[in-house]
Amino acid sequence: MLGKLARMLERAEEGPIEFDSRFSRKRVQKKSDLHAEWQKENKDAIAKIHDLGPELDYYSRVFTTDMRLKELQKAKKAGKKIIGIFCTQVPEELIYASGSIPIRLCAGSFASQKLGEELFPRDSCPLLKSSLGFAAADEPYISLCDAIVIPATCDGKKKLAEALDEYRPVWALSVPHCKDRPQDKRQFLSEVRLLKGRLEKLTKKRITDKALYAAISLLNDRTDAMRAFRAQREREPSVISGCASQLVAQSVFFDDIKRWTAETQTLCNRLAKKEGKPCRARILLTGSPTIIPNLKVPLIVEDLGSTVVIEQSCGTEHSSDPVIDEDREPLSAIAERYLMPSYCPCFVKGEDRIDRLLDLIGRYKVDGVINHTLRLCLPFDVESIKLRDVLSQKRIPFLSINTDYSKEDIGQLKTRIEAFFEMIEAKR
Ligand code: SF4
Ligand code: SF4
Repeated sequence: MLGKLARMLERAEEGPIEFDSRFSRKRVQKKSDLHAEWQKENKDAIAKIHDLGPELDYYSRVFTTDMRLKELQKAKKAGKKIIGIFCTQVPEELIYASGSIPIRLCAGSFASQKLGEELFPRDSCPLLKSSLGFAAADEPYISLCDAIVIPATCDGKKKLAEALDEYRPVWALSVPHCKDRPQDKRQFLSEVRLLKGRLEKLTKKRITDKALYAAISLLNDRTDAMRAFRAQREREPSVISGCASQLVAQSVFFDDIKRWTAETQTLCNRLAKKEGKPCRARILLTGSPTIIPNLKVPLIVEDLGSTVVIEQSCGTEHSSDPVIDEDREPLSAIAERYLMPSYCPCFVKGEDRIDRLLDLIGRYKVDGVINHTLRLCLPFDVESIKLRDVLSQKRIPFLSINTDYSKEDIGQLKTRIEAFFEMIEAKR
């Protein structure tokens, strides 16, 4: 009885993180050409993908045309809510179950990073500055958002939430520091409940269990397609490059979920009939996400004759795990899905990320690991030290790179990556 009372009191005090708009700064001058610059950056990066063929046309169009933007504008006019999301811990099932549409806003544009530098410390990671730059420039995708959900992961993302709230309503999603204790799971489930309440208030519609099960099934179909695609990437020799694979995996950030799932099933059927091409070295790329158009490192790897056969990164691993809802309350099943398989370095313990990497190294027959740290990203920088030790004990070649979105260090990176491949070749 007392326990029940304590739980009721605890619940009565629960509330979402609210920002105080008293301290809003002035808007920066509108720079409406940023959207066109972003599309141009995308076109340039995609044009460098060496195995770009007609089977990838659909995915390219998502990044280089306004096809999806127009659809979203139309959906919004028809009364749908558009919800911007960051990172990988936002339960998309809730958004679909509310009748809304999610789009992922983590940004990889150099042009918007320059603008973000006027508003955020220069000494912060480029992903944060680039994302903020889009908001400050009224970029059409961000302008469409009725709300933006940001998990409070690394310190930068926490402060980004506060800064973005000056442009669009931001709902910060508190993420526990650990994920394996019962109280962590309870805390995250309570945040997921609060998010559900906020979506219901915004859409003026109750999210029923029936709608949640339908959304789970919709997203699990997408996961099946993503897993089938990843299975094709396991093949040796490789049937698709790492850069093309990132194009496939990241177009899901914006595009219609059913269309993406159908297109990716078709692509998998085509890849299944394709013969692979041997390469210099099969590489696993891990660390800070390489968000299109920032394909700098994978493009160098593949220009030099190797293939990124798999990434361990939230830029491509976001849709690889299903919600297991058998005999369970749907909200708990969803909360668990977005906490447990997250390998984000913001959690206190990073052992499961290393276990995950070792598993991928075996399954994808990896010859060497490249760790990509975006400049000033402390969590990945710290984890790279432990990773180096573990991989060196197992005699797995490892290269750690610290870079940003600029092109200035391309020559230097090419030299280091070429030397890394020569070392792998000499070991054979
Ligand atoms: S690594 Fe973590 S904090 Fe960084 S973008 Fe990915 S999910 Fe977000
Ligand atoms: S985890 Fe690193 S790369 Fe991701 S947003 Fe934070 S500082 Fe940037």
